[in-house]
Amino acid sequence: MTATVIDGKEFAARVRGRVAQHVTRLKDDHGITPGLAVVLVGEDPASQVYVRSKGKMTAEVGMKSVEHRLDADTSEADLLALIDQLNNDPEIHGILVQLPLPKHLNENLVINSVNPAKDVDGFHISNVGLLGTGQKSMVPCTPLGCLMMLRDHHGSLSGMNAVVIGRSNIVGKPMAQLLLGESCTVTIAHSRTRDLPDVVRRADIVVAAVGRPEMVQGDWIKQGATVIDVGINRLDAPEKGEGKTRLVGDVDYASCAKRAGAITPVPGGVGPMTIACLLANTVTACCRANGLAEPEGLTA
Ligand code: NDP
Repeated sequence: MTATVIDGKEFAARVRGRVAQHVTRLKDDHGITPGLAVVLVGEDPASQVYVRSKGKMTAEVGMKSVEHRLDADTSEADLLALIDQLNNDPEIHGILVQLPLPKHLNENLVINSVNPAKDVDGFHISNVGLLGTGQKSMVPCTPLGCLMMLRDHHGSLSGMNAVVIGRSNIVGKPMAQLLLGESCTVTIAHSRTRDLPDVVRRADIVVAAVGRPEMVQGDWIKQGATVIDVGINRLDAPEKGEGKTRLVGDVDYASCAKRAGAITPVPGGVGPMTIACLLANTVTACCRANGLAEPEGLTA
């Protein structure tokens, strides 16, 4: 069997296209421009790249994009004051504080200081609780992107066995909640799981969010299963030249693609969907803030 490749790059472009259409409608019909503020503290190189591309794509779909770059030694009080200002800014509908934060800042405190209605990352404790109880919430972008791709590929996911590898607050746990919401039978695996290959072999859907390069092997995959690879791992690639690197997922693509029915590649799978879902969440937040109908199919 050769797996169908789920093209996240193409899918994300479609999502961004729908977001852009909705932004145009909000502007033309209601005179509202959705606004997204991104706050970056410090100079983490990977975060700088993410923030730059978030800003670029926000502007490309016609939304207002605001960036706040703060020094690495910014005090907690100053950061909280900025968040408070953004919480009260009617032109800002989404606020994203880029993680990780420098060590001296209390990440939970900062996340929970964002107005839950503007929490487009879906990390605020209120949104976590709403998602866990099956209520309307802001849904974390990466799991939302995975869910959109799964729904698009399968239609109904009801009754399928899903194994999520990883139990982080930003990917594994919300992913499991979303799959439960789709009536999957969900198993969450983690570093203490016994006989992981055997657990994964029972899955119709495997979501790997581990942070271990190419860990999931082809002989763990049930014939025809759908494999969603969230992992982003940068490995040295001396074959490409000195100092060069390459990106790999948490899934050994070559062996898994031989058994899977469908699989997401890395790069070009889940990654592009994450930013597309951030934009989708911002439009959703803007519609909710203004009591307008939300765009269909852009949230869970
Ligand atoms: P975390 O490090 O927060 O969580 C990793 C999880 O994997 C933990 O629950 C851990 O278990 C589990 N784990 C670690 N080793 C094993 C093992 N040997 N067997 C089974 N489970 C294991 O990572 P994140 O959830 O933040 O990210 C996961 C991956 O996804 C990373 O590669 C990250 O770069 C990528 N990512 C990609 C995004 C995208 O946009 N595509 C967005 C966010 C993340 P335990 O809890 O027991 O320690």
